Amino acid sequence: MEKIKLKGKTLKELEDFFESISEDKFRAKQIFQWIYQYKVDSFDEMTNISKSLREKLKQLTSIDSLKIEQIQHSKRSNTKKFVFRCEDNSLIESVLIPDQDRLTLCLSTQVGCPLNCQFCATGQMGYKRNLSVYEILDQFIQVSKFSNRKITNIVYMGMGEPFLNYENTIKSLMIFASDLAFDISGKKITVSTVGIPEKIREFAHTSFRGKLAFSLHSTDEEIRSLIIPINRKYSLQENIDALEYFYKETRRRITFEYVLLKGINDSDKDIKGLVKLSRLIPSKINIIPFNSIKHTNPTGIGAELEPTSLEEFNAFVEKLRKNNLTVFVRNTKGSDIEGACGQLATQIFKSHKVSI
Ligand code: SAH
Repeated sequence: MEKIKLKGKTLKELEDFFESISEDKFRAKQIFQWIYQYKVDSFDEMTNISKSLREKLKQLTSIDSLKIEQIQHSKRSNTKKFVFRCEDNSLIESVLIPDQDRLTLCLSTQVGCPLNCQFCATGQMGYKRNLSVYEILDQFIQVSKFSNRKITNIVYMGMGEPFLNYENTIKSLMIFASDLAFDISGKKITVSTVGIPEKIREFAHTSFRGKLAFSLHSTDEEIRSLIIPINRKYSLQENIDALEYFYKETRRRITFEYVLLKGINDSDKDIKGLVKLSRLIPSKINIIPFNSIKHTNPTGIGAELEPTSLEEFNAFVEKLRKNNLTVFVRNTKGSDIEGACGQLATQIFKSHKVSI
């Protein structure tokens, strides 16, 4: 009989489990703390659980861990990229990004990604499957064990689209924020989405109160569709409506992410579009330098994309600021280890792209 995996379960799921094996419900809280707060991976460390119950749990359940396959260290920025091997041999990546006052972990939610955004390396590698709650959480647990500093912030900006793995994403967020588990404030957790309107609306009503980032990249429907194919299915306008709704319901400001691509989305017309949009939705904008994805051998328009020159990049940012927009420039840390934004694509896929 296959053992039940305890890691990845919510408190409620653990309570149901203990009831189902005729044990006290309060055991759930103890196990929840041992696994997430204390990050133990053996039952013998659980000193407030009787020996007989520990034996029973060993028979019925397991506490699994992702295997660290490789760690790459960026000498330039001190960023580290972790490659994990899942049970089915899939490889996923997380990136640990140090800053003066924070340590941010960038997590993956899928093996690969089905969206095929033209500027993103993960999109070029194809899609395999959603990650389980356990696989999302364990990226954090394993990196925490490895790091001598406490991870203070989490961004769901690694491989995959969190809102296409909605249920598991929400469960993992709840566990990250729970004071009995990881106790990370929602203010320090950002979920980034390409934009699935119905999920944006649903997200407004989850009890998890975290930040939402939207991968905008163009305010023009046609151009956005060119670089983000799913825009043909979920248009920018539908997403804007959903984001307005999100703000009205939550009063939380949206972050727009905008990768600057030479000749594609960096003109004065684009400035006008951004100014108009930010008057509509209380927000801030992260302007992101385009990181090369040449290592994935992109085809089609992806192969032609280039970063906006530094001079024009700075001018673009200045123009936005002159219009009173709140603009941040995202550093491209970790690009020397293919660990910067949009560069995550594990070697295993390079040889055989999965078609969808
Ligand atoms: N699917 C989600 C999360 C993953 S992408 C989303 O689309 O938001 C996380 C961020 O990295 C997004 O803002 C994305 O647009 C950005 N990104 C992707 N490829 C990039 C590249 N080559 N250079 C810089 N940023 C990139």
